[in-house]
Amino acid sequence: MSHKVTLIPGDGIGPEITEAAKRVLEATGVKFEWDIGIVGQQAQDKFGTPLPDYVLESIKKNKVALKGPVTTPVGTSFRSVNVALRQSLDLYACLRPCKTYPGVPTPFKNVDIVIVRENTEDLYSGIEFAKGTKESDRLAKLILETTQTKVKQDSGFSIKVISETASRRIVRFAFEYARANNRKKVSAAHKANILKFSDGLFLAAAREVAKEYPDIGFEDVVVDALCMRLARSPQQYDIIVLPNLYGDIVSDLCAGLVGGLGVAPGANIGDNIAVFEPTHGSAPKYIGQNKVNPMAMMLSATMMLCHLGEIKAADRLEKAIADVIAEGKSVTYDLKLDRNQPAATTSEVADAVIEKFKNQGG
Ligand code: NAD
Repeated sequence: MSHKVTLIPGDGIGPEITEAAKRVLEATGVKFEWDIGIVGQQAQDKFGTPLPDYVLESIKKNKVALKGPVTTPVGTSFRSVNVALRQSLDLYACLRPCKTYPGVPTPFKNVDIVIVRENTEDLYSGIEFAKGTKESDRLAKLILETTQTKVKQDSGFSIKVISETASRRIVRFAFEYARANNRKKVSAAHKANILKFSDGLFLAAAREVAKEYPDIGFEDVVVDALCMRLARSPQQYDIIVLPNLYGDIVSDLCAGLVGGLGVAPGANIGDNIAVFEPTHGSAPKYIGQNKVNPMAMMLSATMMLCHLGEIKAADRLEKAIADVIAEGKSVTYDLKLDRNQPAATTSEVADAVIEKFKNQGG
């Protein structure tokens, strides 16, 4: 059977790493039919929108996409394609595994954490009021009337929205993921001691949902304490579920703990649709140099294979990537302890992974 997948090369370094990931996927013997989608500035120039309908329709139809990073130009009206995709397709869970592979220069060994980040609300709801506008004045008055708190006149506002529905949904996702992947513990991170009505709601929902999963351990942890513990002994964590903003920050922290963005894969998942993409962005300064690490993209592709039920191919591909890293010969500059050592190119990494995959037999 052939899997129909929407392939979004993205821009910046996106097309180079997407090509590398596509080559290794095809070398696994699993069959794909790729539906190519153009987004970002190229789509803006061609179709007058950075996220054309045909791309959304293709993902809705195929239910699975593999996506390269897309640049969000600063200082234009251009909306982030990445945020728009998550919102339009209700991809409410951001899944980011952070795992140490022997051979990657890291401060810790044996880290294997999965970050589950809520993707739709919190401070990313987009509800903001600029300083000095009529709206922010009205809001300041409402705050004064209802809470007797006087905010400074030159304040801007970004509203933090946390709902019980979204909190339950993301915590349930974390527990279901734990069960399906033989994980032992879910830690819910929050700041409910200070943010009683937003994070407090998240925490209460997490505690309720946890009762439905007596086979999986549960704890809650204040997010600042979590960061301190991650920096000292990250091995104590298994799955960490967090509201949107903390999830964004803590997943980058964890990516750093396991060797950086070059080896940090990810996925954005909804009830029926999943989009697999690396954590990193389009790194425009490296465009066209065949230099950056395609492994985060390849590991995202491995997650996609699992999602498609191609477990054997996924395990073998992950092992091939891990073997290339462990050998240390065909890795890009970011995985070299000494950055002055000669490093492999993006396409050479793909060649080496394909070679290792073939030599595994089976
Ligand atoms: P970035 O992740 O693109 O790059 C930051 C630095 O990380 C790079 O300069 C490079 O040194 C390193 N890096 C990133 N990927 C690497 C790789 N595969 N191999 C080796 N080194 C790598 O972050 P940025 O510079 O803040 O963002 C650039 C653009 O990407 C922005 O327009 C941003 O909006 C966009 N972005 C897109 C996504 C996405 O598509 N999901 C995610 C994050 C950022």
